[in-house]
Amino acid sequence: MTKAIVLFSGGLDSLLTTRILQSQGIEVIGLHLGTPFQDISPEAAVWAEKFGIEMVTRRFGAEYLKMLANPHWGYGKAVNPCIDCRIMMIQAAAELMRERGADFVATGEVAGQRPNSQKLHQLELISRKSGIGGKLLRPLTAKTLPPTEMEEAGLVDREKLFSYTGRSRSQLIRRAKTQFDIHPIPQPSTGCLLAEKSFAPRIRDLLKRNPEPSLWDAEALLFGRHLWLDERIKAIVSRRESDGKKTVAHFKRPDRSPSFLMTPENFMGPSVLIVASPGSAPFTDDDYALAGSLMLRYTNPEKVAKIGAPAEANLFRTPGEREIIQISPDERSAAFHLIEE
Ligand code: SF4
Repeated sequence: MTKAIVLFSGGLDSLLTTRILQSQGIEVIGLHLGTPFQDISPEAAVWAEKFGIEMVTRRFGAEYLKMLANPHWGYGKAVNPCIDCRIMMIQAAAELMRERGADFVATGEVAGQRPNSQKLHQLELISRKSGIGGKLLRPLTAKTLPPTEMEEAGLVDREKLFSYTGRSRSQLIRRAKTQFDIHPIPQPSTGCLLAEKSFAPRIRDLLKRNPEPSLWDAEALLFGRHLWLDERIKAIVSRRESDGKKTVAHFKRPDRSPSFLMTPENFMGPSVLIVASPGSAPFTDDDYALAGSLMLRYTNPEKVAKIGAPAEANLFRTPGEREIIQISPDERSAAFHLIEE
């Protein structure tokens, strides 16, 4: 039986691609990929079960950051290195193809659908640079491209493939509903923070200060407010309860960069994670005092007034080392600006 690896995000294009191949009697294994900036989607597993396919999940890590720092083909409108990213994804699928003895890789790419990676010449470039040779099929747009070796060898019936182009989803949606019984239709979303302009300043700031960030450094960008206190240290202040939990969990990771954590002790307020730039001097008492004052800056003053005693915070120099300290406002903390500002 012919076997294909489908890049399976759980979005409409990958669902259609899977159904098209299944309708030709081809066995599909879905490859669901995550990056430090694009989470694994729980919906993908639900669709995989519905379609009766095996889904393999993999997540890019440090190698992705290395590419992000210096993408050969540059960035899109934000800090999205889409061409390099697609090449990595297809290489990952090609690796799984070899591991599983599959015949080819298929993606849901549509020529002209995405300006940063799916123009015709970019599709050709991605095929070539991924090193997959002729073993890459794009069933939704195949008839606009030269026949692949799978079509020529009769593993795939080209007549039953499609020639969709452009950004409109309406024809794809109609096809999904009428021919392939796909419902509900997934909402369009890249789910990728790198494509969001509001996230770009954080990435640019990180890479400017540290061209070789660790995964811990990069994943710390995913929550809280980020402010530089001086050239040495950055504060991450939680915005909501879920941020607070993430901040604590992040600090507990064994791969953490030099940092300390402060949580409120006798009032309701944000957690503050302080991270040092690479190679900077050890933290000082002044750094702890500034972190405490920053916590107060982002706390409702009424809550602080209600304590009726000096505000206190838990200072964790390491996850297992807790000390309760008194904290107080410091006018310097009012001058710190969010990285996004
Ligand atoms: S949007 Fe993000 S995940 Fe998608 S190709 Fe671009 S960089 Fe990669």
